[in-house]
Amino acid sequence: MSTLIDIQRTRSPKQRPSPSELGFGKHFTDHMFLMDFERGRGWSGGRVVPYGPVQVDPAASALHYGQTIFEGLKAFPDPAGRIRVFRLGDHLARLNQSARTLCIPEVDLEVAARGVRALLAIDAAWMPEGEGTSLYIRPLVFATEPFLGVRPAEHFLLCVFLSPVAGYYSTGAAPVRIWVEERYTRAAPGGLGTAKTGANYAASLRAAEDAKARGYEQVLWLDALEHKHVEEVGTMNLFLRIGEEIVTPPLEGTLLRGITRDSVLTLLRHWGLKVSERRISIEEIRTAHARGVLQEVFGTGTAAVISPVGELGFADTSLKIGDGAGPVASRLKQAITDIQYGRAPDRFGWLSPIEALATAEGTAGVAMRA
Ligand code: PMP
Repeated sequence: MSTLIDIQRTRSPKQRPSPSELGFGKHFTDHMFLMDFERGRGWSGGRVVPYGPVQVDPAASALHYGQTIFEGLKAFPDPAGRIRVFRLGDHLARLNQSARTLCIPEVDLEVAARGVRALLAIDAAWMPEGEGTSLYIRPLVFATEPFLGVRPAEHFLLCVFLSPVAGYYSTGAAPVRIWVEERYTRAAPGGLGTAKTGANYAASLRAAEDAKARGYEQVLWLDALEHKHVEEVGTMNLFLRIGEEIVTPPLEGTLLRGITRDSVLTLLRHWGLKVSERRISIEEIRTAHARGVLQEVFGTGTAAVISPVGELGFADTSLKIGDGAGPVASRLKQAITDIQYGRAPDRFGWLSPIEALATAEGTAGVAMRA
């Protein structure tokens, strides 16, 4: 399909942040990619425009009923400075999986990928320098139709924008402290748990704030029915090493199908280690800790890749785990970041290169065959 992406360059490029100011998700690049959906017409009008506020009608149904989905992925420089996106196709496929759950029209994967590529090519100079930094890519789809009835909207906006980022946690690579949440729940069977949608994050805030007040960085969610089995952490999937078995909760409809989770499972299996996707109860974790066989606990996610968990907090006790990052967590982080930054071969085909945008050089308003 030949889809023209209109490109309108900014006339006032912003000052780029220095590496020490980066943080996570605080700065945005000069451009964004937009595309509109109208029922009867489908998706159209793919364009790269200067980054900035979009006009939203106060009656837009996303603001009221939360018909919105998003993704989070990253682009990295290779040693020659070329930009490559990590698992682009898998993230866009998950966007469409979320779309189906929320009755949002699926995006054409090919066109969305071209939009991401065009945007990255235009804002390539925003790629930060320094270990652990990258360009975070945030695709977002939300219902723009001004209508107050509760039904799937008929107008949507797809917006993709970029943020130069450092690591996610203020603790850096130090182990995080996680509160095991036995009161609030994130997602119930048959609910929205597998979708990357605002409601899941809104539902997590109360518990996260309470955990923070107790000195914990994130919450470990338990299943909604029995409060017995572990599910996932705030914005990460969870792995535990008990003896020589590495365990992660199965994808049974209440947790996010993490792309980093999948990368980790692929590597662990490739290395011939013993991995299980199975239910694991808090009781089993407490017993393993008491027996001294809870070797490692770590979270996996795009933002921090691998985050060692140093402590699990409960109302009546806290379990200290290991002493810094364990060997499996460290090996995984090294292996994944080596692939991401092109220091190791891309043996699983996880990276999509971004070609320089020769056709869009020059002035504003150039149409590009993306
Ligand atoms: N669970 C939740 C709830 C998340 O928000 C994230 C971050 N996207 C993850 C898990 C990890 O997913 P991924 O590895 O795809 O970033």
